[in-house]
Amino acid sequence: MESTVTARHSEPAAGATASNAVIRVEELHKYYEMGETRVHALRGVSMEIERGEFVAIMGASGSGKSTFMNILGCLDRPSEGRYLLEGVDVSQYDKRTLAGIRNQKIGFVFQGFNLLARTTALENTELPTLYTKIDNNERHKRAREALEMVGLADRAGHFPSQMSGGQQQRVAIARALVNRPSILLADEPTGNLDSRTSVEIIDIFQRLNEGGLTVAMVTHEHDIAQFARRVLVFRDGKIRRDEAVANRPRAAEVLKTLPTLED
Ligand code: ADP
Ligand code: MG
Repeated sequence: MESTVTARHSEPAAGATASNAVIRVEELHKYYEMGETRVHALRGVSMEIERGEFVAIMGASGSGKSTFMNILGCLDRPSEGRYLLEGVDVSQYDKRTLAGIRNQKIGFVFQGFNLLARTTALENTELPTLYTKIDNNERHKRAREALEMVGLADRAGHFPSQMSGGQQQRVAIARALVNRPSILLADEPTGNLDSRTSVEIIDIFQRLNEGGLTVAMVTHEHDIAQFARRVLVFRDGKIRRDEAVANRPRAAEVLKTLPTLED
């Protein structure tokens, strides 16, 4: 992995409170109505994430991790409770407003990379800038920088089908970074990847985090969660544990001990 990764993040919004929390949620509840039945997916979640943290979110399947991440990522709204993003309560914003905020402040990485197939790595990376006012030169420049940050500068012209799963995920991370978000959210970003490739992705997250970017990632793998600075464990729609990680490993060091494909 090249050591070209550096993070940039936007300044707190004007009018934001003095708190250092990038994210603050208070008594979040989420209900999904499905015909006659109602699923209570989040049952009173309160927590804060401060600037510069790296949080891993664990928990069994169905415990509410994705529901929580989708709310943090402004992809969905809570049924009850408050969500303050950089001090601004966004819990009642409509979809359109949320989409604008998401595009400006949040980078979101999914398990399935969600790249456009007939579109190069560079063009995929540029996509979120199409909703901003920057000109084409600046667009290309930022996309190239983002690809450099994930070590893919030399693959800008490649299509997803010409890249490995790990490379595609790195393009997805570049795309998440291109608008210079304050926070990077990732829902099972290593879920489809082999162990070495997973650690390579985590290495990128650690470097970005060390550059100042706030990172929150869902994983069901204990080994992967240990690379974060803090681990939250969800159970039945609530946070059951919230602990700092002692002696977290450096992904870059761990990579030296893992066999490469050629070995
Ligand atoms: P996790 O990511 O931890 O596996 P989820 O947040 O996806 O958990 O799901 C939490 C609960 O909410 C589960 O019972 C799930 O079936 C339900 N759920 C999630 N998304 C929806 C949805 N769009 N509609 C209805 N129920 C949902
Ligand atoms: Mg999930």
